Amino acid sequence: MGSWYVAQTTALRAAGPGDLPSVDRLLTQPGFAALIRGAGRPAVVTAVRAELAALRVRALGGSLPAAALEPEALLAAITRRVSDANRSQVRAVINLSGIVLHSNLGRALLPDGAIAAVLTAMRAPVNLEFDLGSGKRGDRDAAVAGLLAGLTGAEAATTVNNNAAAIVLMLAAFAARRETVVSRGELIEIGGSFRLPDMMRVAGTKLIEVGTTNRTHLADYERALGPRAALILKVHPSNYVMRGFTAAVATRELARVARAHDLPLAVDLGSGALVDLQQYGLPPEPVVGDVVRDGADLVSFSGDKLLGGPQAGLVVGRRDLIDRLNRHPLKRAFRLGKLTLAALEAVLKLYAKPEQLAEQIPTLQLLIRPVGSIRAQAERLAEPMAAALGTAYVVTIEPLASKVGSGAQPDADLPSHGLVVRRAVRRGPSLARLARALRALPTPVIGRLTDAALCLDLRCLDAEGECTLLAELGQLEP
Ligand SMILES: *Cc1c(COP(=O)(O)O)cnc(C)c1O
Repeated sequence: MGSWYVAQTTALRAAGPGDLPSVDRLLTQPGFAALIRGAGRPAVVTAVRAELAALRVRALGGSLPAAALEPEALLAAITRRVSDANRSQVRAVINLSGIVLHSNLGRALLPDGAIAAVLTAMRAPVNLEFDLGSGKRGDRDAAVAGLLAGLTGAEAATTVNNNAAAIVLMLAAFAARRETVVSRGELIEIGGSFRLPDMMRVAGTKLIEVGTTNRTHLADYERALGPRAALILKVHPSNYVMRGFTAAVATRELARVARAHDLPLAVDLGSGALVDLQQYGLPPEPVVGDVVRDGADLVSFSGDKLLGGPQAGLVVGRRDLIDRLNRHPLKRAFRLGKLTLAALEAVLKLYAKPEQLAEQIPTLQLLIRPVGSIRAQAERLAEPMAAALGTAYVVTIEPLASKVGSGAQPDADLPSHGLVVRRAVRRGPSLARLARALRALPTPVIGRLTDAALCLDLRCLDAEGECTLLAELGQLEP
């Protein structure tokens, strides 16, 4: 055998765990001093340990080539780990899931005015709880509560961290150690961790279920309202639809029963719209003001669903009841921070000019985006996408159905368009692998994977996102 053969076998030789350098020795290698200067010693040591642990696993499995232990290879791998760890864990992504209000992607995007208001509240002291007129202590909810009351016709309003908190607060304030009456058809679970019976338990109220799964009548409520009843709760079944032989009691009728028994009626509206969405061609969603007018004493809804604002739980209703919510200790625990209040005020102010809403609120803009504009975008992107994906995949432009998301209007399909990717040959690389490669891009792209296709619904891709996507497609490693 000649020397060539020896050299080849050395390079291809598998390294064993005993070949791994120690942490201390690695840190003295050339290049590491600069890395430590840039990122700090603890970060580099953490990265070195993680890399050595990963290499040890491969060495034990006999799959670690000796070349991976060359100084340059080690420095490159550890530098990569340091910069990955340095990158923010909350990253901008491109939402091509077709779900506009995607709970896992942070729901509503804020309008520019709200973003500016948040920046101000971050940079400078603000009169969060300070009355500039009197120079005395003020109420942090005052501005937002006034706007909410004005927009819904309610006497008063209060705010907490999210709608789940609003429900717990209402239950704890009005029905602790007593009974809350709810229709069986409305005992909902939302997105995994929100189950109404669990909320009742933590709030310390006893759940009295009335009616049956599919039908609940006024008489069912009447029968259940005993001496320990403290609250009637009506829940908008936002994330499911009941069809067929069903019956529910309307808010107006329920309000009459509540009044007759001198009990408050609380309505959890879920998404809750401040304006009638049908005027934009969207499916109907209960309008908060209508429910107030129908006689609900308290109505709760989310800030970051159809309203298009920041995460918040909003409660509007009778002044005396809102005052009681505000005096409850949980209100203090659930209260909003200044950044959210600043954003919320800016968003609510936009609702004062309903004719401009469609241009001003990103959520609404995305929901009503004309399908022609989405299709044109698909036509612009199809070729660059096909080129980036190579021959293993086939890209077509197809009609798709977007969803509102966040449990709102689960039944409604919003006609959309997008790129649909399928495998060119059955034995080729999988669609799951492609979905992973898209998520590994500098600005991760989130599609919707079905059995036979990866759908990239373009409804939520704005002009800036389109530029970002086009610019990074070259880095895709399908
Ligand atoms: C979304 C929703 C909730 C929870 O609201 P969050 O703001 O996410 O806490 C509660 N009830 C209904 C009916 C909902 O749709």
